[in-house]
Amino acid sequence: MVYRIPSPKVLEDSIRRVIREHQSIPSQRRFTELVLEDLKKKNPEYRVGEVRLRRMALLRNLARVTIQYRETRDMSRKGRCPVCSSPTEELHNMTLEDRTVELGFKCTKCPYWTGPRKRVPVRYIFTMQGDIVPPSKKKGRYAQWKFA
Ligand SMILES: [Zn+2]
Repeated sequence: MVYRIPSPKVLEDSIRRVIREHQSIPSQRRFTELVLEDLKKKNPEYRVGEVRLRRMALLRNLARVTIQYRETRDMSRKGRCPVCSSPTEELHNMTLEDRTVELGFKCTKCPYWTGPRKRVPVRYIFTMQGDIVPPSKKKGRYAQWKFA
């Protein structure tokens, strides 16, 4: 199958457009679909993976990413972050999200953390940075950008 990997610049532009237009996207699957739709307007052969998209949104600060977790029965251990695949580091007595974590691991690049029982991400919500613009005002703002 013929496919192309978009460059970081092309991908970043697509993510910015999608986030600006939708403002809040309730799942990783939907986010990937929307970015892919946007990419395909440029080249129908573009492909992109969920992890690459999520990493870019997080690490380049293109969107606010809210991560919902499920706590498993497994012990957490050092390794790659399940959110962005960066290395993790050990935690001792840290306060995160208003909870004191005595032992666990934290990603070195993104907000992921886990206590002694391994937490796994179950849902990602992608939201625009800053205030959500109500649809009534959005129209005017878009028009302005168009002619800027
Ligand atoms: Zn991470």
